[in-house]
Amino acid sequence: MATTDPMDLAGIDDLLSDEEKAVRATVRTFLDKTVEPHVADWFERGELDDPRGLTKQLGSLGLLGMHLEGYGCAGMSAVDYGLACLELEATDSGIRSLVSVQGSLAMFAIWRFGSEEHKRQWLPRMAAGEAIGCFGLTEPDHGSDPGSMRTRAKRDGDDWVLDGRKMWITNGSISDVAVVWAQTDDGIRGFVVPTDTAGFSAPEIKHKLSLRASVTSELVLDSVRLPADAVLPDVRGLKGPLSCLSEARYGIVWGALGAARSSLDSARRYAIERTQFGRPLAGFQLTQAKLADMALELVKGQLLALHLGRRKDAGTITPAQVSLGKLNNVREAIDICRTARTILGANGISLEYPVIRHMNNLESVLTYEGTVEMHTLVVGQALTGEQAFR
Ligand SMILES: Cc1cc2nc3c(=O)[nH]c(=O)nc-3n(C[C@H](O)[C@H](O)[C@H](O)COP(=O)(O)OP(=O)(O)OC[C@H]3O[C@@H](n4cnc5c(N)ncnc54)[C@H](O)[C@@H]3O)c2cc1C
Repeated sequence: MATTDPMDLAGIDDLLSDEEKAVRATVRTFLDKTVEPHVADWFERGELDDPRGLTKQLGSLGLLGMHLEGYGCAGMSAVDYGLACLELEATDSGIRSLVSVQGSLAMFAIWRFGSEEHKRQWLPRMAAGEAIGCFGLTEPDHGSDPGSMRTRAKRDGDDWVLDGRKMWITNGSISDVAVVWAQTDDGIRGFVVPTDTAGFSAPEIKHKLSLRASVTSELVLDSVRLPADAVLPDVRGLKGPLSCLSEARYGIVWGALGAARSSLDSARRYAIERTQFGRPLAGFQLTQAKLADMALELVKGQLLALHLGRRKDAGTITPAQVSLGKLNNVREAIDICRTARTILGANGISLEYPVIRHMNNLESVLTYEGTVEMHTLVVGQALTGEQAFR
């Protein structure tokens, strides 16, 4: 009888091609060697040792904008990208966030909506990790409702002048380029803003208890003067930023399961090794019930992610389907981490184990790229035809 891998009880690996498994293995090997030994320390200190060096390494592996074609991007499939996101987030959601924001938000916005000049100027360097990008949509007073944003871009002769504030921007203070969304007389437009432009600053946000191995910043735009061609020419209105978010959310559908897998694996190993009342924790039915439920939700989430990935590769995925995936997989992943935390008892709150780090990280993942409530409303609208946002 074939032995079953406890971390792949349903045999989902059989649904992957050899090439897909090879991509996953390459990412895992890199992370095990380069990031895993340090990431708990980075989380504890609230800073990455060398974010630029790490970004270059991620770029040389082809992980930045990996599912985009041309301009130095790897042109891999959506499933390959998803598998990479899962491995990245099994290490830390902050590392996956760096990759997601670079590839699916900043690069995707330029790749999809930018001029040929924007693409040539930025994408090859961003794919190589030589330039870092961020994506400024959220503002201090406008998060779930970005359509009400106050950041404004006004024409002054041929130039644009941007004024406003963006908040909670991943990679902000380490970025070379920011894609900034602003109100104009022509509706919401996107702007490619080199971060050394006068009037632009990005103070880092401190005191986070989640995503501590990730740079999060405010963007301050004080009369930032840009040339006429700084605007993304090919999109107007909220559909621009929302389509970028849909890309990044797709990666989260997979990524969150990485944090869950790591936590389940930690709890499973701990339960087998730790003895109380004369037997391993794993021998108690209550522990087994927890582990079984966690494994079940992980399997269901993986099947959903893979199904959505195949649809994305076929070009048939819809935003509501991405919402279904993000809603389910992040919600279940955080539940898995919380249950894993209980199995580790007091050790569960220690950074000696990855579980509480994943759990705290997922509090951010639950909120960014559309909160649980927003995705519930998207699914509700798809079910009923009624929009209940306002
Ligand atoms: C670590 C981190 C990194 C981030 N990175 C980025 C980034 O790179 N770029 C970027 O632009 N943004 C980023 N964000 C911001 C993130 O996208 C927003 O926090 C998110 O959209 C929610 O906005 P908010 O925090 O203003 O909450 P709010 O919109 O104020 O919502 C607060 C609560 O009210 C609920 N709510 C709001 N409206 C409704 C409604 N109609 N019905 C029911 N409930 C409702 C929400 O679901 C939520 O529970 C990041 C956030 C974090 C925490």
